[in-house]
Amino acid sequence: MTISAETQSTPNYQAILDQIWSEVAPRLGEGKVASYIPQLATVPLAQFGMAVYTLDGRLFTTGQAQTRFSAQSVTKLFALALAYTREGDAIWQRLGKEPSGTAFNSLVQLEYERGKPRNPFINAGALVITDILASRFVDSEIAVLQFIRQLCGSTTPDFDLKVAQSELQTAHRNYAIAHLIKDFGNLHNTVSAVVRSYCRQCSITLNCEELAKAAAFLANHGTVPWNNQQILDHSSAKRISAVMLTCGTYDAAGEFAYRVGLPAKSGVGGGIVAVIPGEAAVAVWSPGLDASHNSALGTYALARLTDLTWHSIF
Ligand code: GLN
Repeated sequence: MTISAETQSTPNYQAILDQIWSEVAPRLGEGKVASYIPQLATVPLAQFGMAVYTLDGRLFTTGQAQTRFSAQSVTKLFALALAYTREGDAIWQRLGKEPSGTAFNSLVQLEYERGKPRNPFINAGALVITDILASRFVDSEIAVLQFIRQLCGSTTPDFDLKVAQSELQTAHRNYAIAHLIKDFGNLHNTVSAVVRSYCRQCSITLNCEELAKAAAFLANHGTVPWNNQQILDHSSAKRISAVMLTCGTYDAAGEFAYRVGLPAKSGVGGGIVAVIPGEAAVAVWSPGLDASHNSALGTYALARLTDLTWHSIF
């Protein structure tokens, strides 16, 4: 079906998702699965799913929107939001909110910026957020899982302990980052406890439908649209979304904003969640990653979505 200009104000999401699927299907298999976490290297490459959850409660999907995948760094969004509900702006004493311009697992800035990570979406920043949560909850990763379940109204998101174990056994870089932060006095719990919780948090699996629903509160100015529960005030929701835009897709945040034009958070499992303020949340998953570790077809699909719907923040 051809998408016409009159879809601009009220997009026909299903027709647009069908069109995106028809464009993506011949390209399945592009990109590379993350292989530095051995268990993720076993995920079949040629997969794609997408879901749009509108604030008036409609769900549109295409492809494997019900297939569960490893959320990985997408969980950093929910960990940040949870920490922000508890500590507010105090978190910014321990980490920044500037794009890093370096890879998500880089150590270079951390040394000369004296253990204060650039932002909560690179590994260094996420480890500090885990530490903040670990000081407040018995098990920070369980708190993050419960938060995600609460936001999407489903109990199926869960840990994949095989993935967690696989990452923990090869987590040399994350240990190095955590040790450096600890040396600068910016980690209050033990390195081993923080890295273990972080790996378990990253192993959370969920599907596109659940992920889109879980992020809808950010599109809805901080309030969960389907049960009216306020998670953050509108100003805080705006701020979290702003950090997503500038830092959510690693050192490709500029390229991603240029192509997609939405606040988003990606993960090396191939998931990306994006927010259309006042309208919808979108989740896409395809395990093949581009050179910057963002899902190749996922980024393409989101760029097509904003072009076809005219709904970006620009
Ligand atoms: N668990 C992964 C890691 O720490 C998450 C990275 C990511 O998704 N960018 O390396």
